[in-house]
Amino acid sequence: MKSKILLIYTGGTIGMMQDVTSGQLKPFDFKHLTKQIPELSKFDIELSAVSFDKPIDSSDMQPEIWVDLAKLIEKNYSKVDGFVILHGSDTMSFTASALSFMLENLNKPVILTGSQLPIGTIRTDGKENLITAIEIAAARENGKPVISEVCIYFEYQLYRGNRTHKFNSEHFQAFQSANYPILAEAGVHIKYNHGALKKLNSSKLKIHTALDANIAILKLFPGITQNLVDAISNTKNLKAIILETFGSGNASTQKWFVESIKKIIDKGIIVLNVTQCNAGAVDQGKYATSAALAKAGVVGGEDITTEAAVTKLMYVLGTTKNEKEIKKLLLKDLRGEITK
Ligand code: ASP
Repeated sequence: MKSKILLIYTGGTIGMMQDVTSGQLKPFDFKHLTKQIPELSKFDIELSAVSFDKPIDSSDMQPEIWVDLAKLIEKNYSKVDGFVILHGSDTMSFTASALSFMLENLNKPVILTGSQLPIGTIRTDGKENLITAIEIAAARENGKPVISEVCIYFEYQLYRGNRTHKFNSEHFQAFQSANYPILAEAGVHIKYNHGALKKLNSSKLKIHTALDANIAILKLFPGITQNLVDAISNTKNLKAIILETFGSGNASTQKWFVESIKKIIDKGIIVLNVTQCNAGAVDQGKYATSAALAKAGVVGGEDITTEAAVTKLMYVLGTTKNEKEIKKLLLKDLRGEITK
């Protein structure tokens, strides 16, 4: 039995062409993409494809489009063995994280990939990325899918999507998963890190489409002013703030700052502490400079990435309005996004 894979083309560099008049890279239609990779027809895999009517640069990604993607996956879930989503790399980690929360009990592979160079260019990284992503989505062992989670495949490495961060806009290796091991490495063979993969379960796929985007990111820096903190905390309808702190979750101990955080929490706004560092975790209370945050009721984000924190908050706030429940879910490992 041939594996059935659905390719979903959202846009991104992988399918872009240079506009002859402006010289700018613009998304092109999907027919162009398949024409550029005749290898796709040689696969012993049944490939079908859908393309966004208007492919986008991923900087235009919106939660509404994540909802469309989740619904598309749900609609085709019983018809195919896996999904490959072609997506711009700029916000790929956000989309992968969002989908991981929206697709509860996912038991099939959803692999996002893209490229740094358009597929039509001679040195493109897009061909290898796409071909191997399809192979991974189709991989089965004892009749069961090897991958049953939302992943990013880029430059010979497969990552858990909600652990990734785009860290390089120049290198072909654009992504990093600093706090979780690589799920697979593609060399002559594709070597899976079986111990790190999500296990299959027998529960039915359940999609969550209520996302609440009334959140903010407050990145700390030496010299941050009260005006800025006040402006953010006075944002209309604000429900949660991601506090991007120093090191293991530390912040200024200046009286006005600690008082501002307390006031924000008193207003019922959730504050989630996420480190500015690429690797490592928030450990509130390790230093005196984070103890005040814990005391004020700031939730420790553990080793979550900002991308996963943004999308987890949107998902959790869309799921419940109960403050206690929101905090409980934030502290819980829902989709392998934090180390517990
Ligand atoms: N700006 C592009 C995008 O994210 C970059 C890429 O595709 O890698 O859509």
